Amino acid sequence: MGKIFGTFGARGVYPEEINEEFAYRMGRAFGSFLGGEGLVVAGRDTRRSGQALLNAAIAGLVSSGIDVVNFGIVPTPLVQFGARKLKASGGLVVTASHNPPQYNGIKLLEGNGMGLSREKERIVEEIFLEGKFGNRSWKSAGRVFGFDVKVEYFRAVMERVNAEVMRGSGLTVLVDEGEGAGSFVLPELLETLGIKVISINSHGSGFFSARNPEPNEENLRDLQKIVGALKPDLTVAQDGDADRAVFLKNSGEIVQGDKTFALVAKFELEKKRGPIVTTVATSDVLDDIAREFGVEVYRTKVGDLVVTGKLLEIGGVVGGEENGGVIFPDLVLGRDGIFTTVRILEAMAERRRAFEELLDELPKTYQLKRKIRVEGDRKRLVEEFARKMEERGFEVDRTDGAKVRFKDGWVLVRASGTEPIIRIFSESRVEGKEKEYNDLAISFLEGRS
Ligand code: MG
Repeated sequence: MGKIFGTFGARGVYPEEINEEFAYRMGRAFGSFLGGEGLVVAGRDTRRSGQALLNAAIAGLVSSGIDVVNFGIVPTPLVQFGARKLKASGGLVVTASHNPPQYNGIKLLEGNGMGLSREKERIVEEIFLEGKFGNRSWKSAGRVFGFDVKVEYFRAVMERVNAEVMRGSGLTVLVDEGEGAGSFVLPELLETLGIKVISINSHGSGFFSARNPEPNEENLRDLQKIVGALKPDLTVAQDGDADRAVFLKNSGEIVQGDKTFALVAKFELEKKRGPIVTTVATSDVLDDIAREFGVEVYRTKVGDLVVTGKLLEIGGVVGGEENGGVIFPDLVLGRDGIFTTVRILEAMAERRRAFEELLDELPKTYQLKRKIRVEGDRKRLVEEFARKMEERGFEVDRTDGAKVRFKDGWVLVRASGTEPIIRIFSESRVEGKEKEYNDLAISFLEGRS
């Protein structure tokens, strides 16, 4: 773990941890890292502290000689899309994604829109901490431009979908943007595609007064109540920067992220054959789908940056994570909750199938995701578990933590890098076995076997 950058860029509470001085210094460090020339695209989510922080970061960038295109309030995937579109040298997003409203942060991007690699983040961090900034002069100071990236993004989406069938579908969608950056994009895009939109919390106030930006069980209780009464064809909730989308059934049940990913991957492969990339933490259903289409599945460590990197390396068609993040490398080199929603609706329209019917067509598996608190050396404990299982003759995959393969499923044990927590995910095709595998891992970790 770096001194400034964590798993999701630099993040903290405003103004104690992340403030204007920090943002200015970060802008200047990134500008210096880029050699004091070139173009950087910038944007932010809806947080109240966002305007001040983005302005400060832009000041740092232009003072180091960088020209900036300011997209204003836009979802992270649109900044990523815009970087590639404008052939930028890099990108900067002021966002704290799913964190509570008092948080904010800065995420840096490569010129192609992908998250900046860990190695490059280390260099920016060093410039930031040691003040090794490039020279400034009145002649080289950068300029700031505006650009309507939304129009370009909508155009790119239209080129990729069957808009005609969507327009004639008569589908209704319930959208909960949670006051995040998607408020100004997803409802409008869906309406452009002829979808009837009912939206709640889609005004982007930045206070997150209705719910916290993380689209999880705890924060979606209100939405769960409304769903049953409105019975839309699809219900979607997004996080603060709209790179993730979570879907609900009309019963109010939240659909597991890797199931929606599987559904999208299947639809994507029907359009174009090619390898898919996912992490060790996602469902075996992805392997079933790949087999059906005769393509390969690459499984990486957990993290959208690793998945995106692998997609680029092997020329993959689609990538995704168990948390519901889906990556369409042809459009955006990162998770895109907006296009994920569009694709699901397109699949429903083309096949004339209800969302739940499409889910039911996927092979059935049972999953259990738990976490336990563990003080002390978590990595060592996970390794001890791995060795013990190998001694018992089970196959163990160490791509990320320890994934033990059983006859009817698997269990994945991973130590968190930031919290005193170990996550235990399990899956089986036989109901009940997922709990058995999960219990087995937990009883070892808690020292009961
Ligand atoms: Mg996010």
